Formats: sequence, structure tokens, C-alpha cells
Amino acid sequence: MLVDFEKLWKDALFEIEPNVSKANFSTWFKNTYISKCEDGVVTINVPNDFVKEWLSTKYYKFVISSLRNINPSVRHVDYLIVSRPPETNRPPKKFSAIKRQVFQNNAEQLGFQELNTDTETNLNPKYTFDSFVVASFNEVAHAAAVTVSKNIGSIYNPLFIYGGVGLGKTHLIQAIGNETKKNHPSIKVQYLTSEKFANDYIHSIQNKNIHIFKEKYRKYNLLLVDDIQFFSGKLKVQEEFFHVFNALYDGNNQIVFSSDKPPQYIVGLEDRLKSRFDGGMMVDVSQPSTEERVAILRVKMQQKGYLVPDEIINFIAQNIKENIRELEGALNSVIGQSKIRGKTLDLRGVEEILKRKIKPTRVINTEQVIKTILTYYNIEEKNLIEKTRKQEVVKPRQITMYLLRNDLNMSYPHIGRRLGQKDHTTAIHAYKKITCDIKNDKKLEQEINNIKEIMFKN
Ligand code: ADP
Ligand code: MG
Repeated sequence: MLVDFEKLWKDALFEIEPNVSKANFSTWFKNTYISKCEDGVVTINVPNDFVKEWLSTKYYKFVISSLRNINPSVRHVDYLIVSRPPETNRPPKKFSAIKRQVFQNNAEQLGFQELNTDTETNLNPKYTFDSFVVASFNEVAHAAAVTVSKNIGSIYNPLFIYGGVGLGKTHLIQAIGNETKKNHPSIKVQYLTSEKFANDYIHSIQNKNIHIFKEKYRKYNLLLVDDIQFFSGKLKVQEEFFHVFNALYDGNNQIVFSSDKPPQYIVGLEDRLKSRFDGGMMVDVSQPSTEERVAILRVKMQQKGYLVPDEIINFIAQNIKENIRELEGALNSVIGQSKIRGKTLDLRGVEEILKRKIKPTRVINTEQVIKTILTYYNIEEKNLIEKTRKQEVVKPRQITMYLLRNDLNMSYPHIGRRLGQKDHTTAIHAYKKITCDIKNDKKLEQEINNIKEIMFKN
């Protein structure tokens, strides 16, 4: 088989590109090229293991069918990891100058500069599916969001997205709004936070025009309510919201929620609201791995039209672990400083900047761990220490024991005593059990990460 590799891959990418979002295209297909074609087997060189894994699982069919469309003799695709793409062999100075130019133009064309919020819908146009990087930590939530945007009110209703701070919940739910508005301009879309809803409600009572409030919220076809954990404890507001929810739902309108935790852990959330959420679709976003953080930084760098060297990207990804917002903030500082100084920072310069961003973690004690657990699971201390095998108590207790051992390095006898005069072997058992469960249960791992985040930050 005599083939022009470059042309074959170029044509294939041309077919693939319109079917993949811009952010994903650049995450997964940048720096890939065909290095061999033999007996119907095409070898595609990729920059790392992470890209190989993703292309060969998630995009396998895509890649092979587009190659086959162009050259029917293609039978199979292999991926080869090559850490350095060939372009680095070219003269460095000139090339990077050209590339920067290209990136800058691209960024302008793509409209990634800060855009204003739409006054009618409250949507920020920068939050699109196109600018959203999908990887394993947010794949399910993304798929659900896309499905909803294509089937307003008919498939996953309500959609409930939960996960830690800065992991893309607002981005995703606004993307649903922007996508819907783009395809169906007449659909009435509204984005708001639960706090805004509460304030609106309170104002309408003060101004004695609650009927206007009621009418207003019942007219939307797609209502996106962000951060509903702030409803906790506000019973009157929840009740009003429940009526709005029912009216919209009964009219086959779509409702989407985000929250920093699953509904069962939102303190003071009414059961009837919770059971409404249970009736729909619930998905979580978890934390990105180091490779995923690298991929996100690369996309962000391109959007900003500034080239940051690999070693700096890797350094940021290894040191900023909490969330994507912090990651982006660190990248912004590095780019900002580089621009001010007129040259890209070296690693030491970057380290200096990040030092200010990497917050020292708080030193905490046993009581603070217990307090966090009680709030998170909405239980009382007497429940936590009582002798019972009820699952809703056993799990928080075991997690408490695990955290005390794992994160505070407390002795097993101390842990046992503090949690209801239990034997040290109970604490050992709990620690081992949770350690083992986390390995097989992503949700549990995420839950514990959320708790830690609250524990160390508050
Ligand atoms: P949350 O609402 O979960 O606290 P946000 O949606 O506000 O988080 O995300 C924080 C920042 O990170 C935003 O600037 C958002 O655009 C960006 N971001 C989050 N997830 C992604 C992603 N998967 N791809 C690209 N940018 C992302
Ligand atoms: Mg948010």
C-alpha cells in the first residue's frame, strides 16, 4: 500500500474535526501524525500514553472509519507514543514566532476573549461545549448535559450535576443553555443561582408583587439553577421553588441543577424536593488527574493565544491540584507576568508565582474532622458514636475513622475512644475497609475528597 501519510491523516482529521468540539479536537488530535502504513495497519504517533488510551478507546471507531472512507484498505489502527513531535526539530525561533501568530489569530477568530453576559438569559457566551475539555473525570456529566441540550424536557428531567468547587459545573450547565439558544432561539432559557432566586423571592415579598415573581419563573422552557446547596435551610424559598419546579415540570419544561454535593447531603433540603431530584438524572464531576490537568492547560493556553513551554505546563499541572479554576488562574498569572516582562518565564519564575498561589493546608484536629462529617452527612454527634449498624451512620463513622488515621495520623486507640469507646480493632477495620473501598468506588473517593476539601479550607 503506497500512501501519502501526511495527506491521509490530514484528510481524516478534516472529517473528524467537525464532529468533535474544538477543545477536544485540540486535546486529543494535536501533535498526532501517521508514521507507518503497512498491510492495512496504520500507525499513528501520539505524544503520550494518555492520548493513546483515549484515542484507542473513545475515538477508535471515529478514527478508523474516517481513515477507511479515504482509503478502504485500512484494517486496523495502532498507536505509538513518541514524546517529541517532529515539529520540535525545526528551527525553534522562527517557528514559534509563526505558531504564536497562528494561535493568536485562532484565538481571536474563536472569540475566546471575555464576553458579556446575555441580559435576557444571564448566560455567559464563553461557557460552551466547544470550549469544554472532556476527559474521564467529567465524561458522564458532559454526556448527560449534551443529551439534555438535544432533548429539552424529554429525557433527563431534572438533570442534577454535583461535584467540588471549580470543576466545571457552572460551565456545563451554562453550555446547555448556550447550545439550546443557538439551535432554538425561541426557547426561553434562564440561568440563575439559587441565591438569586432566593433574593428575587424576598424582594417580591417586600415589594408586594409576588404574582409577578410567580409568573416570571413559570414561563421558562429551560431553567438552569446553579449552586442549589444555598437553598439549605431556607424553607420558605424552597417551598416557592417547589411550586415553580412542579409547574415547569408538568409543562414538560427542562430543569437543570448544580450543587457541590448530592441532594441527600444538603442540610435542610426538603424531602419532597429531594425525591423530585431522584426522579431525574444525577451525575457527578470528579477531579482531573495530572494528565488531564495538562490537557486542560494546553487547551486554555491555545485559547489565550500564548505559547507556554511544556515543562512549565507540566509544572503547573503537578502543583495545582485542587480544581480547574485554580489551574486557569495559575496559567493566567504565568502568561500575564510573561507578557509584562516581555519573555516567557523560566521554571524558577513560575515557581515564585505559584508559591503565592499554593496555599498551605490548615492544621486541623479531631474535633474539626468530626464537625465536618456531622455537617456533611447531616447527622448528630450522638448518632455518630451510638452502637448501631445502620448504614447511614456506619459509613460516616468509618470515613471519620479513616480520615483521622489517614490525614491526621491519629492512633487507633485514640480514634476508637473518641468515636464511642470502641476498641482499637474497630478503628483498624474501618481504616482498612475505606482504603480498600476507595480503590474500587470512584464515587466514594470523590465524596471523601469533597469532605477533605471542606475540612481543610473552612
Ligand atoms: P464550578 O461551577 O464547578 O465551581 P466552573 O464551571 O465555574 O466550576 O469552572 C471553573 C473554571 O474552569 C471556569 O473558567 C471554566 O470555564 C473552567 N473549566 C471547568 N471545567 C472545564 C473543562 N472541562 N474544560 C475547560 N474549562 C473548564
Ligand atoms: Mg459554579
